[in-house]
Amino acid sequence: MPTYDDQNIFAKILRGEIPNDTVYENDHALAFRDIRPQAPVHVLIIPKGPYVDFAHFAAEASEAEIIGWMRAIAEVCKMEGVEADGFRAISNAGVNGVQEVPHLHVHILGGRPLGRMLQ
Ligand code: C5P
Repeated sequence: MPTYDDQNIFAKILRGEIPNDTVYENDHALAFRDIRPQAPVHVLIIPKGPYVDFAHFAAEASEAEIIGWMRAIAEVCKMEGVEADGFRAISNAGVNGVQEVPHLHVHILGGRPLGRMLQ
């Protein structure tokens, strides 16, 4: 399993060292607006625990953490009004995925037609 770097920017956000535009929070997850939005709705949802990526989270998080993160994603989609017209959920991982911040996050993008990603 990867080693978690507690100096990454989302760890600092979770510790309150860097501001963020929070849209939702529960015991296990925090959701905030991306600072470089790629769509009218662009929210990042992160678990509060120290997990690098999806595989790390799936292997080591508790069931409560997994449920908390998944429910946060669904709640954000509802709150941001993208449930009806649809959205895209992306989680970049590793070098090939061009993951910039080594703390698990899912991007929720919506509010406009996003186009086909896979041909
Ligand atoms: O490639 P990756 O999925 O790791 O991208 C990280 C995202 O985190 C970027 O979309 C970037 O705009 C966002 N970010 C942010 N707030 C920060 C630092 C990065 O929303 N303080």
